[in-house]
Amino acid sequence: MSQTVVQVPFFDLTRQYKEIKTEVLQQVEAVFESMMVTNGPFVEQFEKEFAAYCNVNHCAAVNTGTSALHLAMQTLDVGPGDEVIVPANTFIATPWGATYVGGTPVFVDCKADTWEIDIEAVEKAITPKTKVVVGVHLYGQPFEALKLKALCEKHNLFLVEDAAQGHGGYIGEHKVGSIGHMACFSFYPGKNLGTYGEGGAVVSNNKDYIDRVKRLRNLGSAKRYYHEELGYNMRMGAVQGAVLSVKLKRLDTWNARRQEIANRYLTEIKNDAIQHQHQPENFQSVFHLYVIKTADREGFMSYMEANQVGAAMHYPVPCHLQECYTNLGYKEGDFPESESLAASCVSLPLFPEMTKEEVNRVIEVVNAYQA
Ligand SMILES: *Cc1c(COP(=O)(O)O)cnc(C)c1O
Repeated sequence: MSQTVVQVPFFDLTRQYKEIKTEVLQQVEAVFESMMVTNGPFVEQFEKEFAAYCNVNHCAAVNTGTSALHLAMQTLDVGPGDEVIVPANTFIATPWGATYVGGTPVFVDCKADTWEIDIEAVEKAITPKTKVVVGVHLYGQPFEALKLKALCEKHNLFLVEDAAQGHGGYIGEHKVGSIGHMACFSFYPGKNLGTYGEGGAVVSNNKDYIDRVKRLRNLGSAKRYYHEELGYNMRMGAVQGAVLSVKLKRLDTWNARRQEIANRYLTEIKNDAIQHQHQPENFQSVFHLYVIKTADREGFMSYMEANQVGAAMHYPVPCHLQECYTNLGYKEGDFPESESLAASCVSLPLFPEMTKEEVNRVIEVVNAYQA
């Protein structure tokens, strides 16, 4: 009886690979023929293209998004005694940037409707030690970066965008990544723009910042065998740069497809047990993830599994309650909205190559859910 049931994977990168395989393999071959396999012309080419894409002047590619956040903090000279304000509901690499360089992450809560960083909470968290605020374009939806930038200017603070989930988003006519002093991107394979390996980037209009990131990623060296400061080996492999150039040309098309699917979820999923992320006007999300809240998450997850529709959680534990941060002394109840999100978030399948039948099936199954 149920032979025709459509199974929906949470995510499937093999479909996209089929679409771009010929071009990817050509580029990979070109890298190997040149044998300039780390940093080099393929990475430089991508850096130029990605800076242009983000409407900024400069880009430094690095090995991961985690490194991008680390090097951004070091470039701003964050160190012991400095506080860096970050949302509690984000991926753990966001606060780690500050921690790596000896700074102290100071967590703040998110808004109840958008689930993005709460600017009023940021204002309350500012102390004389605050040096940087890191906002996160969570799930692909831009946070209120212009408002946060104005607050940072008022208090003489740096604003860094964690844009690891936001490639291509807009606030009005402002592109995500072009608003803060620097923005950090990840090209982890599952991101809207992903490598076939690992990758990340820092972008900025400030050339000094990007020069410093380039030096830090390359053993603290601008000139071979001369090391001006303690650096790291965080270079990007040329294959990743080449793959990213192939994919960047298609990113807007893929993002548009994500938006199309998300708009169907937003308008067609109507179930009192399901809460959507509020999408403010003029904020153009690129829907890295489609996250909903539901009270009985465990029940909903097993219901989805029984119906063979993929689902995931982003993220089940907020940063302030992670074991790695017990030293900071936060406790349950400190950030109610972030904790509520962590306890009830579910990510629905959303990727550009989903078929219409799959999207229909997700909507049908979620609408039929009874709490
Ligand atoms: C993925 C991600 C990172 C880290 O990027 P990696 O490339 O996995 O190191 C940082 N912040 C956010 C919000 C992310 O989603």
